[in-house]
Amino acid sequence: MTWHERINIALEGRRAAEAFRVRKVVENGAGRFLSREGLRFCNFSSNDYLGLSQHPQIVRAWQDGAARYGVGSGGSGHVSGYTTAHQALEEQLADWLGYPRALLFISGFAANQAVITALMGKDDRIVADRLSHASLLEAANLSPAQLRRFAHNDAPQLSALLDKPCTGQQLMVTEGVFSMDGDSAPLGELHAIAQKKNCWMLVDDAHGIGVMGDEGRGSAHHQGVKPELLVVTFGKGFGISGAAVLCSEAVADYQLQFARHLIYSTSMPPAQAVALSASLKVIRSEEGTARREKLTSYIQRFRQGLTTLPFQRTDSLSAIQPVIVGDNRRALRLAQSLREKGMWVTAIRPPTVPEGTARLRLTLTASHEPEDIDALLEALHVASQ
Ligand SMILES: *Cc1c(COP(=O)(O)O)cnc(C)c1O
Repeated sequence: MTWHERINIALEGRRAAEAFRVRKVVENGAGRFLSREGLRFCNFSSNDYLGLSQHPQIVRAWQDGAARYGVGSGGSGHVSGYTTAHQALEEQLADWLGYPRALLFISGFAANQAVITALMGKDDRIVADRLSHASLLEAANLSPAQLRRFAHNDAPQLSALLDKPCTGQQLMVTEGVFSMDGDSAPLGELHAIAQKKNCWMLVDDAHGIGVMGDEGRGSAHHQGVKPELLVVTFGKGFGISGAAVLCSEAVADYQLQFARHLIYSTSMPPAQAVALSASLKVIRSEEGTARREKLTSYIQRFRQGLTTLPFQRTDSLSAIQPVIVGDNRRALRLAQSLREKGMWVTAIRPPTVPEGTARLRLTLTASHEPEDIDALLEALHVASQ
């Protein structure tokens, strides 16, 4: 088979399954409205849960950072790219979350790849929740360690898998809030099991950090759990991008020796670190609390409204509110009909979610207004007739 044939067959397969992905150009895609081709849509697709992506203080912090440090870091952190702005942010994150150390990464995807590949060897085992994010499962697949997956949030199955003989170390991997279902992991129960078996726990709290719990400290803190490895990302609640791994002194030093994503990759721009510090300041402030409360009221309002509609809802109490439709084509049609009513929603199809669970992944944010939630419910009602 030629390259050309191989690629065309793969593309045809995706088209035939109604799963062909295309990007849509937008003028602005975060915040309350998404604008595109001169039209304005109420935005129920972004992960900018607290509406911080356009916060004036944070925008100004980025501008001031650029004026002070320039626009690029000039190298990896091991060479010349670890500035006072990066150091300050790491210290603020460690202090906020109660860990000895925080290490910055350019993205959550990179952080998960780096941590898992640096830590895991061939005699080791990774035991991961089946619904873990692609960046976690892919890292686990690529690592020489054995990968075993447990049914979503299934503590007894986790326990049974950890009991199977393993000559090396075991790492359990899960998320604080699951990205496609919006539900939470029972972190306390899972961590207790892991601890009994000398297994470390890695929690990726991409969707919980900034949004859940006191001062936005996220799912683990909210549940009174301190995983050995906590991954937080900044493209969602923080409204920017980047990530950090929270860990012990020794694990941080180990990552600095062995995490290739830190050693062979340019560090984030210092101005971005300045903006992230400003975002963290808002998240920890009274304004942050008010934003979280506003978001919680929308989640309740939406879930209440959804009970009267003929769609399957999930257990999600988070900003991610999936409406499960089942069939790919029906999900696309529903997304299209909402779009015609001025609402931007995304249909998520397999392989991102399991076969037969195509859905609208709706996200509510603190930048919405109550009438946006009501309009969304009304549009879902009409579309379901
Ligand atoms: C979004 C997400 C990531 C990736 O983070 P980026 O910073 O966007 O690369 C990792 N894990 C989970 C659970 C996510 O939802």
